[in-house]
Amino acid sequence: MTVASSVAISRRVSRYRSRKNNRDLSMKSQVTPVKTEMPTSSSPDDTKRVFLLNEGNKDMKMLLGGKGANLCEMVKLELPVPPAFIITTDTCLEYFREGTGDLPAGLDYEYALKTLEVDTGKAFGDPKNPLLVSVRSGAPASMPGMMDTVLNLGLNDEIVQGIIDTTGNERFAYDTYRRFLNMYSDVVMDLSKEPFEEVITEIKKKKGVKLDLELDASDWKQVVEEFKKINPNVPQDPREQLRGAVLAVFKSWNNDRAIRYRSYNGIPDSWGTAVSVQAMAYGNMNDECGTGVAFSRNPSTGEDKFFGEFLPNAAGEDVVAGIRTPQPLEEMAKKWPEVYGELYSYQDKLEKYYGDMQDIEFTVENGRLYMLQCRNGKRTAKAAVKIAVDMVKEGTLTPAEALLRIPANQMDFFLHPTLDPKADKTKIGEGLPASPGAATGKVVFNPDDAEVMANVGEEVILVRKETTPEDIHGMKSAVGVLTALGGMTSHAAVVARGMGKCCVSGCTGAEVDVRAKTLTLGDQVIKENDIITIDGSTGDVYLGSVERRSAAEDGDFQAVLEWADEMRELKVLTNADTPEQAATARSLGAQGIGLCRTEHMFFDPNRINAMRAMIVSEDKPERLEHLETLSEFQRSDIAAMLKEMDGLPLTIRLLDPPLHEFLPHSEEEMKTVAEVVGKPVSVLEDRVAQLKEVNPMLGFRGCRLSVVYPEITEMQARAVAAAAAKCKKAGLDPRAEIMVPVVSTSRELDLIVPRIKAAVNDVLAQEGVELDIPIGTMIELPRACQTADDIVKIKDVRFMSFGTNDLTQSVWGLSRDDAVKFMGRYSEQGLLDNDPFERFDEHGVGGLVKLALTKAREVDPDVKVGICGEHGGEPGSVAFFHKHKFNYVSCSPFRVPIARIAAGQAAAAELVALESKDKLYRESITNVKLNPKLSG
Ligand code: ADP
Ligand code: MG
Ligand code: MG
Repeated sequence: MTVASSVAISRRVSRYRSRKNNRDLSMKSQVTPVKTEMPTSSSPDDTKRVFLLNEGNKDMKMLLGGKGANLCEMVKLELPVPPAFIITTDTCLEYFREGTGDLPAGLDYEYALKTLEVDTGKAFGDPKNPLLVSVRSGAPASMPGMMDTVLNLGLNDEIVQGIIDTTGNERFAYDTYRRFLNMYSDVVMDLSKEPFEEVITEIKKKKGVKLDLELDASDWKQVVEEFKKINPNVPQDPREQLRGAVLAVFKSWNNDRAIRYRSYNGIPDSWGTAVSVQAMAYGNMNDECGTGVAFSRNPSTGEDKFFGEFLPNAAGEDVVAGIRTPQPLEEMAKKWPEVYGELYSYQDKLEKYYGDMQDIEFTVENGRLYMLQCRNGKRTAKAAVKIAVDMVKEGTLTPAEALLRIPANQMDFFLHPTLDPKADKTKIGEGLPASPGAATGKVVFNPDDAEVMANVGEEVILVRKETTPEDIHGMKSAVGVLTALGGMTSHAAVVARGMGKCCVSGCTGAEVDVRAKTLTLGDQVIKENDIITIDGSTGDVYLGSVERRSAAEDGDFQAVLEWADEMRELKVLTNADTPEQAATARSLGAQGIGLCRTEHMFFDPNRINAMRAMIVSEDKPERLEHLETLSEFQRSDIAAMLKEMDGLPLTIRLLDPPLHEFLPHSEEEMKTVAEVVGKPVSVLEDRVAQLKEVNPMLGFRGCRLSVVYPEITEMQARAVAAAAAKCKKAGLDPRAEIMVPVVSTSRELDLIVPRIKAAVNDVLAQEGVELDIPIGTMIELPRACQTADDIVKIKDVRFMSFGTNDLTQSVWGLSRDDAVKFMGRYSEQGLLDNDPFERFDEHGVGGLVKLALTKAREVDPDVKVGICGEHGGEPGSVAFFHKHKFNYVSCSPFRVPIARIAAGQAAAAELVALESKDKLYRESITNVKLNPKLSG
């Protein structure tokens, strides 16, 4: 920003101010122009580490953090923002690099502090006219509540007296001082909050009151005395306090919960946090003050209605902490119509300006409104979809832009059930509808229990008085969250919405006793492991489980899917082994089956013994006899699948797992099987011993079985052809394809493919049916990638499908099942950005995939390429497959809509980038991952 334009802004701002009844305590929004004699960089090495609010803008999030950059933008928009300066994220990284434990040598914020003093007309550390500041964290991506903030900094014993003298408000002065002592001890000095809280609880008990508001000046004065006894070491020197707080905010970038949040949300550890130092606006002075949080649209339902909560006579942290249940903004409209009108106009302005729903923090000090934060608001999956669709209807966004706003990852919300209105139910409580969806589960009272139970497959509802950032892992493990306290913007509500979990907050009738592990609602006492149902869309709580149904028919959701289908280039297929799965996937939009695992057909208890008999056969004629039985099963199963997928491809994979997986292991089981197959136990034991492998993942499996037992492959190929022929004769359009797994050399295919081809042709000729049954291969070993050209050269090989689960294992040399035991430590120590089994590893595995594509396409530019690992339904990975022009992704049935949206987004990102690069939505609302090249 030039000096001239900042002066212009300062004029406009002061004109705006003069219309309002200026009071002594009011502040000007960073109106001091940057003076020429002021150093433009704060250090001799020319790095600019400190920015005033008129020196930044919304596009500087990487350097100033999201909070800082948006504060700058609000100043540009002439909104009333308390003056502030911002220390850059780079300075935070510098702090970690220097590792001295002290502020980076090049950091000097004295001149910036001076401008705050000029703008507020107060002086930092001056008892006669004290300036107090907040020291706020703010990363490039929003990480609500994960890092630290210190409020009311600059107070000491002398200055608190100064505040009493200047304001005449003793209660306010001591209330503010106790807040500062508590926060500084907690955040900067790492002392436990509990002893401080106990002091307040104790005083309230003595007075027989419940609320903070009922404590008077002398009570707070006494609290301050007690606090100073608990921690006598809070520095009295304001500058020393400031240094400590800035350091603490830097450090909070690497606290456990921030690290966990980043890994859960895919935010790089290498970004760092900015620090905003901002003049305090006081919401806790008297009844003409207050604080609140607002959203330009409803973040839970998406409804286009200004929505929020406020707390009179309270400070910002009180709303989020859920200390009192706040009032809806409608109450504020009645109480302070003018302030409300002003706030309303700002949210409207901000939403139009950012082109997205805004989440706003504000404080009212003596009837004067201050804007403390704005950002693109977090929202539920449901709200994200409704807002995107509405904004297209309003003409604010194009469908491509709107599609990019959808957190594809969370779209399974629409596939998960809501409560069936007709179901029988016993309502036992009611809270706020904090995050929609419905869940039934066993009640647990602490996050660790939630995690333990979820790990053994239990569905649990986490019940807390209120949640804190320490509860994140429990919330992640639970199917739903219920809290007794807190409003729609409490920690529980915000985090649950971010995770797409259903949540009921502020269930005021609930008494939660975490120690006794009971939840009391009226005369119902619910104990640990009892089942309840919560409905985050209505706020209702029910006893036991309640019948639910799917929200997949939601019209807005269907509209989003339509945009995606129109834009995407990737086909979306599914991995399905049974006709039921196939039907589900088809109803969710699958365009075929990319992976049908034939072995699953033989694990059925009615069939496994035929399989076992085949495996323990002592010669080929015996084996053929049992194969004939298996063939019948296979044929009828495949026919049923083909019928379900009429007109769409069904890719059938030949037997893949090592044979010993089918055999019994315990002695008793061995005996039973021996009887069934009519052989002595010793034969069985010998066969088990013979097939036993040290490392089955790399053992006798996949096409290696075909090499040794061609008759198994032949049986499968014949069954596929026969099933297809039968369907064809019945007037259907069967599109069977056969896929060979675990190929390491093209010579395997050279041997196996002609056998498959011959078997298929033989059956088709016998049946007198003409059908195309393409043959292809899976690519799941590094050697197959390296030699993909040779593989594609093999006659009749028409497609390759990357099996990215096994490929990831074989490229990393890491077994997925064993990895869970130690990969957590890898994440903690920053060795992994993502779990490579969850998100496709573009750099490592992707490198080999790219090589394979290049080689294969040199031989056959049109070879059909797909992927059939879990990654096929993971949005970030789908973008990679789009970029490299895969023909299809294949994923599990319930991921199909997610993959459709992700594939649409990958195409939309290119489109939007072409249309107008700078309009591109930058901040990730939740987990939308854009092409990194485009998202800047
Ligand atoms: P978070 O990222 O956890 O929301 P913030 O930096 O936004 O942390 O601060 C926490 C709370 O303190 C917010 O409610 C905010 O409104 C309030 N707050 C921060 N700075 C000030 C200030 N200068 N004056 C008044 N309230 C403030
Ligand atoms: Mg905030
Ligand atoms: Mg495999």
